[in-house]
Amino acid sequence: MEKAFFEGYEIGCAATTRGKVADYIPELAKSDPKAFGLCMLDATGEPLTFGEADTRFSIQSICKVIILAAALKLRGFDETFSHVMMEPSGDAFNSILKLDTRSNLPFNPMINAGAIETASLLLPELSFEDMLDYARMLCLDPTISLNEAVYNSEAQTGYRNRAIAYLLKSKGVMSADPERTLNLYFRLCSLAVSARSLAGLGLVLANDGVHPFNGKTLIAPEHVRTIQSIMFTCGMYDYSGKYSVKVGVPSKSGVGGGIVCAAKGPMGIGLYGPALDAFGNSSGAVKAMVHISQALGLHVFSY
Ligand code: GLN
Repeated sequence: MEKAFFEGYEIGCAATTRGKVADYIPELAKSDPKAFGLCMLDATGEPLTFGEADTRFSIQSICKVIILAAALKLRGFDETFSHVMMEPSGDAFNSILKLDTRSNLPFNPMINAGAIETASLLLPELSFEDMLDYARMLCLDPTISLNEAVYNSEAQTGYRNRAIAYLLKSKGVMSADPERTLNLYFRLCSLAVSARSLAGLGLVLANDGVHPFNGKTLIAPEHVRTIQSIMFTCGMYDYSGKYSVKVGVPSKSGVGGGIVCAAKGPMGIGLYGPALDAFGNSSGAVKAMVHISQALGLHVFSY
């Protein structure tokens, strides 16, 4: 098992040269394109780490998983999915196209429009601080904090996300205030996590929502199934289909370079490599996961 992760790490390091760090959020352009690390955590509690497993980076779109978990808990399944659908969009994560032309509801909670709408459901009951505590709990990492520089950078330049929020408001889909919603969304995208924290989140999901070390239920099992299904079909933007065929592990990526994977075992795998491919997924982390999944038979449909 260790060998498969080490080989995945080496393959991931080599693939970093094929990607480019995100620069549409100016602060992200400062990331080191060669950085790469991964962490695997299972119920033994002994993490397996390679490379930059403890480097902090912004969680970005991976917070969409945490937002969905919170919305399901606060509003329940029916209300949540009366605001957002659960269909893959096949479009880029920040696309506005189908939202205006094909449907009023965003296609799914893993693209920006869907996550912004889902975040609006958390207001006014949940504050950023409540969500920070929730993220720390789900990632088994009490040291997660807000990266203010990333938050400011994103809040100042997030014109497309503003357009999405105001479009949702104009259609009457969003009830909450769009500025307050965006503020919460931008802050949650700016949480500073590590590959180790993502491995914690992956393990909680893979363990049916149960804390692997104290047995407490952190996410209701029926919600975990919903979240993992949507990660499987929509978690890797418009590469989700191919990723599901090649890797077959419920995963979610972010433009900060992270990927969280909830794998059989149960195992949580967190990866970090800020050099991104054309879809906005970490080049190194995708290649690493193709290898690790094949080497260990982690595809959900391999028996
Ligand atoms: N904060 C980013 C955005 O809204 C998140 C996108 C991502 O990670 N794909 O553009």
